[in-house]
Amino acid sequence: VARPKARRTLQEFALIRTLQRTFGQGGPSIVQGMGDDAAVVAANPKTWYILTTDLLAQGVHFDLRTASLESVGYKAAMANLSDLAAMGATPRYCLVSLAAPSGRTENDIHQLYRGMMRACRRHRVRLIGGDTSGSKQGLFVNLTLIGTTPRGRALFRRGARIGDSVYVTGTLGDSRAGLSLLQEPKRKAARQRSTRLPFSRRRMLINRHLYPTARIQEGCMLARYRLASAAIDLSDGLSGDLHHLCEQSHVGAEIELAALPLSPACRAFASCLNADPVQLALSGGEDYELLFTVPHRNQPRLEHLARVRGFRMTAIGRITARRTGVMVKRPDGTRRSLPSISYEHFRRVT
Ligand code: MG
Ligand code: MG
Ligand code: MG
Repeated sequence: VARPKARRTLQEFALIRTLQRTFGQGGPSIVQGMGDDAAVVAANPKTWYILTTDLLAQGVHFDLRTASLESVGYKAAMANLSDLAAMGATPRYCLVSLAAPSGRTENDIHQLYRGMMRACRRHRVRLIGGDTSGSKQGLFVNLTLIGTTPRGRALFRRGARIGDSVYVTGTLGDSRAGLSLLQEPKRKAARQRSTRLPFSRRRMLINRHLYPTARIQEGCMLARYRLASAAIDLSDGLSGDLHHLCEQSHVGAEIELAALPLSPACRAFASCLNADPVQLALSGGEDYELLFTVPHRNQPRLEHLARVRGFRMTAIGRITARRTGVMVKRPDGTRRSLPSISYEHFRRVT
């Protein structure tokens, strides 16, 4: 048993690993404990329950200078819905706990709940409980979402095999671009350059940041037809989340940079700022798209179903042996390894 080091500073991923080793538990009804996008419990012979929770802290996960309470609530719910999407689950129920400082009004809290419930209604999720508390400093919101799959039909991070194709839904990098636009007033030079960006593009990117879309229908389709061998949602950014999937599956991957799906708005944003849109796609977080792997034999069916249902799904690379690691292939054919650049809590920024 690992002993807690009293004076060791916190590192998020290391902390999660030791908590998992020291306190995580398995059992006959626990299909998946800690270590995936959500936990999976076998409720009865027909159904699996999929459970996920997230804590959002003011000043860490959201900034009320750039986001309304309504949008904070909406995004909090969507982030959790996205974890259910990554498991291929149908969302069902929601519990919300809240700690608010005394300066907040009842109307503030209503705004927050209005946003959460707007996201939940889109997927017929019902609020069934929670808790409220005061807070000495800042607002804290914790959501727990519960979904279901038919027994044996959930998607996991483990399961990718050498030769599988790597896919993503939607487009990448928009959320990061939107965040930059929201933060602009603080950086005057950047604002001057991005004023060339048309208003409609600017609005689209900001909306993608404040009001992301959980790919629930896409996840359910992948699980229902057993199309994907592994899946994860993109909350930290492609480079970080691809590493998580590869670690859990004990494989490597090669991503073709030219294949990454970029929106016209993201390209326009990057060209205004003289930035590389591919970099936004690789390391920008909070896209809440799905990253999944598909065995060769399932590809024709996947492509057909995606076309019929109007889902955007793009093949961006393939799964390789673990020893080759996670690589990217540039348009000129050269390769480099892809470092895992993901946001980590407790990390001191110097
Ligand atoms: Mg996730
Ligand atoms: Mg989560
Ligand atoms: Mg979290």
